[in-house]
Amino acid sequence: MTPLTSLLGEKTAKAFDKQLGLRTVADILQHYPRRYSKRGELTDFSSLPIGEVVTVVGQVISTNQRRMKGRKGSIFEVVLGDGDSKLTLAFFNQAWRQSELHEGVTGLFSGKIGSFSSTLQLTHPDYELFDAEVIESQAKAWAELPIPIYPATGTLSSWKIQKAIEKVFDAGVPIEEVLPEALLEQESLTSLRQALTLIHRPKKDSDWKLALKSLKYHEAILLQLGLVERRKAASLQKASSYEPGQLLEGFDKTLPFELTQGQISAGKEISKDLSAGHPMNRMLQGEVGSGKTVVALRAVLTVAQSGGQSAMLAPTEVLASQHYRSIIQALGPKLSKELGVQLLTGQQPMAKRKKALLDMASGNCRLVIGTHALITEGVSFFDLGLVIIDEQHRFGVGQREALKAKAKNTPHSLLMTATPIPRTLAVSIFGDLDISSLRELPQGRQAITTHVVDIEKSDHVARIWQRAGEEVDSGRQVFVVCPRIELGETEEDFDEELELDPGREPANVKGVFEALQQNPFLNQYKIDFLHGQMSSDEKEEAMANFESGDTNILVSTTVIEVGVNVPNASTMVVLDADRFGLSQLHQLRGRVGRGEHAGLCLLVSGAEENSLASQRLAALAASTDGFALSEIDLDLRGEGDVLGNTQSGARSSLRLLRVVRDAKLIQDVRKPAEELEGSGLSEALLKVLELQDAAQLARG
Ligand code: ADP
Ligand code: MG
Repeated sequence: MTPLTSLLGEKTAKAFDKQLGLRTVADILQHYPRRYSKRGELTDFSSLPIGEVVTVVGQVISTNQRRMKGRKGSIFEVVLGDGDSKLTLAFFNQAWRQSELHEGVTGLFSGKIGSFSSTLQLTHPDYELFDAEVIESQAKAWAELPIPIYPATGTLSSWKIQKAIEKVFDAGVPIEEVLPEALLEQESLTSLRQALTLIHRPKKDSDWKLALKSLKYHEAILLQLGLVERRKAASLQKASSYEPGQLLEGFDKTLPFELTQGQISAGKEISKDLSAGHPMNRMLQGEVGSGKTVVALRAVLTVAQSGGQSAMLAPTEVLASQHYRSIIQALGPKLSKELGVQLLTGQQPMAKRKKALLDMASGNCRLVIGTHALITEGVSFFDLGLVIIDEQHRFGVGQREALKAKAKNTPHSLLMTATPIPRTLAVSIFGDLDISSLRELPQGRQAITTHVVDIEKSDHVARIWQRAGEEVDSGRQVFVVCPRIELGETEEDFDEELELDPGREPANVKGVFEALQQNPFLNQYKIDFLHGQMSSDEKEEAMANFESGDTNILVSTTVIEVGVNVPNASTMVVLDADRFGLSQLHQLRGRVGRGEHAGLCLLVSGAEENSLASQRLAALAASTDGFALSEIDLDLRGEGDVLGNTQSGARSSLRLLRVVRDAKLIQDVRKPAEELEGSGLSEALLKVLELQDAAQLARG
């Protein structure tokens, strides 16, 4: 579509590209307003997020021009609003602004929100004052006209964006409708062209509401069209079929426990898929500790029965090597050898890696467990029949596809996750996956008690270490989790959506490791540490020492978040717990209470009462149900960007549709999408909206 340069000129177009990533007319038309303000409705300043670029409607209450203390120059201060909701504007050496900004004027003000001696402040904001001379008869309409507020940057303010969009409209935008008129009418929608106009230039609130509804519908149809096509393609695909045999039988006999009901039925479902001649596309979801690995392993043995290979992809090196060790142990020496089980990670010694690669290519290895290294170039399989993705929410669609592409024919895939909602709900809508669930935990699992400890209360914090000492004393082990590796560094696994208190240095592995060695309750015990910057061997050694019980207390980052299984570990202390997301904390907590001992999880936090962070922690302390927690998490995050950052950049591909919030719409358009399939509509829609990424996502 038309590049912006031709309409806005070189310089402006460049700024749009650089600051907002908008290059074409289609891009800018789909840079939708975040909300609408009204001239007649002043913004409530009290909840403005510090550090963000904001656009507000304000009225000047007072101004003050004065010399600066102890320095040359003057400062011109403008106060917008009053009482609790007050915002100060500051201009240095710009006394001339007094002629524009005086008591009573209203306008839009935009800038990065700061805080100066505890009042909110915009320094040198950009502004656009409202025209004071409105004809009486138009005053009401003027005050109530919705003003689009766009996601803006410091130099590309909301109204500059609005003006650019006006130019695009003035130049004439040829947008054809692609949905059948009858469908639009039936759903009370407006055409694409009209919707794009109304979302940017509404005359009243009902205009942009209609536009929003219509645009969402178009996105949903586009998404479903992709899915319909994909479903059709999948039903035509062929895959090798596998029947269980004596490998699985032998393994089942040696199992030291009874399979749970859920494990048995998941096993049956998988077994049926594997023999069906079409690729399996199944998600196995189950609470942390519900025993997903053994279900996967049984599928591996079915595939291995006729010589097929399986690859298990794990998100971290620590988890891959732990899986490797525990799977070898579960299979026993004879079966392990027969399957030629291998580990493949990026950091392992060359010789080991070479051996693994060779065995995979020759077919000697029928099960390889690895990290992202599995999807790198130079990795090839003799006959890859099954792809298993552990903790699937940590991978993007692209990574899963890359592994599948290593197979000559489409392999079966099994995705495993302990985070059922919200992310997997999204995937199940998108990916059209079949789902197996493990609802119960294996017998004899212990409850986990969770407490939040206020970091300000030093006696409570001291009591934590005393308690940790008692656990070790009675033969158990303790995890201590910190957000950082060392002082002054950024988080290893940082969740950008969390609001963090920038003032405090978060706990770091190195510092805490040293401090605990001096701690009177703990100094007689063996303390070790683990983090992502250690070499592969060091990590493995630290993990092995903890698994064997040689290490009593392990101080680590979130590298232990997923999958790590040490049944003797009973206690987890999470320092600066407010810096972690809710699902992440739930995963972390799942590391304890896995054996015969009751689990204890202590969340140390400096989060202020009633802050989002402290609500997250309270929710975690109140529930151990991963399902419920995921929903709460979604709720607290509000917007609910369910696809997350790791899900293949999905954030940018759907502009208005939100997978969980709009789940019903997405499901509802399935039928019309099926009817429209094959009519060339999806190509036409794509062309107009240039929503390539959305389509790609839908096609997986
Ligand atoms: P997750 O679902 O979190 O991946 P794992 O597969 O790591 O859980 O299993 C956790 C632990 O439970 C392992 O030690 C495993 O051997 C054990 N386990 C699995 N299934 C059962 C069962 N049916 N009865 C008892 N223990 C089981
Ligand atoms: Mg697991």
